[in-house]
Amino acid sequence: MIAGQVLADVAIVGAGFAGMSAAIFAGARGLSTVQVGNAGALLFSSGPLDLMGVHPVEEGRTWSDPFAAAAAVARDIPGHPYARVDAQSIRAAFVEIVAALGEAGLDYGPLGDANRELVTGAGTVKTTYCVPRSMLANVEALAGRVPCLLVDFHGLREYSAAGIVAALSERWPRLRALRVEFRAGVAAGETHAAHLARALELAASRAALAEQIRPHLADARAVGLPAVLGLRRTDAIAADLAGQLGVPVFEVPTIPTSVPGLRLKDAFERAVARRGVRRIVQRRAIAVVLEADHFALHLEDAPPGSAPLRARAVVLATGRFMGHGLVADRSRIRETLLDLPVVQPASRSAWHQADFFDPRGHAVNRAGVSVDETFRPCDAAGQRVHPRLFAIGTLLAHHDWARTKCGAGVAIVSARAAILAAARELGTPSTAQPAPGGAPAPGAA
Ligand SMILES: Cc1cc2nc3c(=O)[nH]c(=O)nc-3n(C[C@H](O)[C@H](O)[C@H](O)COP(=O)(O)OP(=O)(O)OC[C@H]3O[C@@H](n4cnc5c(N)ncnc54)[C@H](O)[C@@H]3O)c2cc1C
Repeated sequence: MIAGQVLADVAIVGAGFAGMSAAIFAGARGLSTVQVGNAGALLFSSGPLDLMGVHPVEEGRTWSDPFAAAAAVARDIPGHPYARVDAQSIRAAFVEIVAALGEAGLDYGPLGDANRELVTGAGTVKTTYCVPRSMLANVEALAGRVPCLLVDFHGLREYSAAGIVAALSERWPRLRALRVEFRAGVAAGETHAAHLARALELAASRAALAEQIRPHLADARAVGLPAVLGLRRTDAIAADLAGQLGVPVFEVPTIPTSVPGLRLKDAFERAVARRGVRRIVQRRAIAVVLEADHFALHLEDAPPGSAPLRARAVVLATGRFMGHGLVADRSRIRETLLDLPVVQPASRSAWHQADFFDPRGHAVNRAGVSVDETFRPCDAAGQRVHPRLFAIGTLLAHHDWARTKCGAGVAIVSARAAILAAARELGTPSTAQPAPGGAPAPGAA
């Protein structure tokens, strides 16, 4: 639906981690909210939510305490998004989003104070903060180096249990691999993770899979499978398999696009819908124009004569190059909707280091929009562009989320801070209300 007549409190452009989080925060605070963009970017997620894992990037130092890491980053990089928030607001943001995802059927493990390590489908060990419940036993098995059987599926591309075992042989010697011939009713040929996930929602498929694994258990005290344990009800499916095998069963995150990404998209969409946010998923915003005291959002392929979308505040959650929040031409990087100033090297020759693997990373991966203390974009003179214009997520400058492992964290935390500031600016209470039929998020404010 295209709406033009109604003046929303907030329009959010983008529906990745940042946009969806902002929609949850805004809806929960009673702001009339409209969101433009489809949530396809979430399919790239492998499930775990990073807060802060590596700093300084050139030293590759990993942190067990992500809050201490965020504080160190805030001290060392004054422009970093974490320099605009404190530990309490970081925690509150995670608590509210994890509660909203849980209400929508996607459970995460308890939020503690520490980072966790888990094994990935690439055979690496990932440092992250918040782990889907279906991956908790992955963390525990790795921590204890317990005898463990990793299972993969004949025909499932780009996931090899034997490859993971080989990659981790020194670190985790008692890891073994098993390949099962389990087609789950799918014709011979390639096996897709989503097909397996759907099949494993059926009790009969799980019984057949358990039957194939059981003879190979030997001394295994846990069984790891690629992340295919259902599109929904994953924890019940893992518990059922664990019951049949007599040992904990866990998921190993897979490469994108992944089943955990599908689950996240589904859960975010449900959580946003429950909070009354209106979504426009088929069209992108092509321009944001300030008109008197509100913004007009023009959408692509809008029917001739239709009015633009109007909102009192706008939150840009359009991502960087992948999302098209930023585009690069031969000489400079531009922000796509308002041509906001972009923090970037003086010339293209400084975008990248000479060595692709340079431990310092590349300046182009820290390019983005500069914001004030409340996530309002600033112009070249450092002045905020407009009191009701906000920017969040990877669109922000001064962070290299991929190298420093802070992707979801920056998105979630900046979304909350921006929405609280917008609510204040609009004169709306900034306290979260429970979603219809849901409990209030513990600690949400
Ligand atoms: C392969 C991969 C794996 C990752 N794994 C992890 C992980 O394990 N843990 C973790 O914490 N993070 C991970 N991340 C990082 C995390 O996904 C990002 O930090 C996160 O996507 C940032 O979200 P964002 O919403 O700011 O930007 P994006 O995800 O880029 O979303 C921006 C959205 O805005 C939309 N958009 C842009 N312009 C417009 C417009 N004009 N109109 C409408 N819509 C628009 C785009 O289409 C896109 O959907 C991973 C990222 C990738 C790519």
